[in-house]
Amino acid sequence: KMTVLTGITTSGTPHLGNYVGAIRPAIEASRDENVNSYYFLADFHSLIKCHDPARIHQSRLEVAATWLALGLDTNKSTFYCQSDIPEIPELTWILTCMTAKGLMNRAHAYKAAVQENEENGSQDPDKGITMGLYSYPILMAADILMFNANIVPVGKDQTQHLEMTRDIAQRFNHHFGEHFVMPEARVDESTAVLTGLDGRKMSKSYNNYIPLFAPEKNLRKLIMKITTNSQAPEEPKETEGCALFEMFRAFATPEQVADMRARFAAGIGWGYVKQDLFEVVNAQLAEPREKYAELMQNPEYIEKVLKEGAEKARAYSRPFLDRIRASVGIKTLG
Ligand code: ATP
Repeated sequence: KMTVLTGITTSGTPHLGNYVGAIRPAIEASRDENVNSYYFLADFHSLIKCHDPARIHQSRLEVAATWLALGLDTNKSTFYCQSDIPEIPELTWILTCMTAKGLMNRAHAYKAAVQENEENGSQDPDKGITMGLYSYPILMAADILMFNANIVPVGKDQTQHLEMTRDIAQRFNHHFGEHFVMPEARVDESTAVLTGLDGRKMSKSYNNYIPLFAPEKNLRKLIMKITTNSQAPEEPKETEGCALFEMFRAFATPEQVADMRARFAAGIGWGYVKQDLFEVVNAQLAEPREKYAELMQNPEYIEKVLKEGAEKARAYSRPFLDRIRASVGIKTLG
């Protein structure tokens, strides 16, 4: 049986990009009898970018309610919050001691931050960079290796981290015995990467996103705000690289997409594209949106689900970590 694992950072409100790129395909995968799925709220990861306790707390509820509202069956998958699994930070430390510093020096996120400092003419290339940002690929490795996931669905930008996870696992296995399964990244070229309101990748931390469960009115308003070029309505339009078209495609049926493609070629005003986009997005989200609103009224229920999920996850992680501890020579009190 395959084990699939995916996490969402609890640094804000889930958006259309998270849904299309991660949550929707993950929920679909969890329905497959041959798949063991581990889905988690990555709250330790959220501390890297977000130092606002209220936001992190709220986001835990929002992200959890999102998965539940979209129909995740928690009997068929293991759904938990990262920080509820104390074995994860413990494994992180053990792996940290097996990870070459040079490997972390090469991590894209760290390198990008250094480059930004250099471009801004800063004297200190590490200005504002925490050890959390620097070493989070190791935390990510622990997330994955803890449950011996063999398939990790990721965006293209994350494949390097999977390489690092394999690197770390290999080094550990070589030294202490074959404990970890080698995970593989699965990049699904057909899942769209949605563009945000400002033309950059839609992201919680850019504040350029459309909340997945924005009330209908706001959803319409936000879709109307998506930046477009200044082509006149009757001009034929390019679908390739068009953010509106990409988003439409992520929500519409193949027939609707073919029809929209023809209208692009014939010339269509952006206002009409946006109106149709709103219709397809809204049609798909109207029902779970109501469910989400109900769930958010009932945080006790959400916490109960997370508690059960943590217990289920720990039934695996606790004995597994004991074996890892023993393999490096650290005793576990009985
Ligand atoms: P942050 O800004 O806190 O990093 P984020 O909104 O970029 O958050 P994550 O929580 O890091 O998203 O990612 C969760 C999942 O959502 C990942 O699998 C990621 O590939 C996917 N995802 C994030 N943004 C998009 C997007 N714009 N389009 C498609 N998928 C996305």
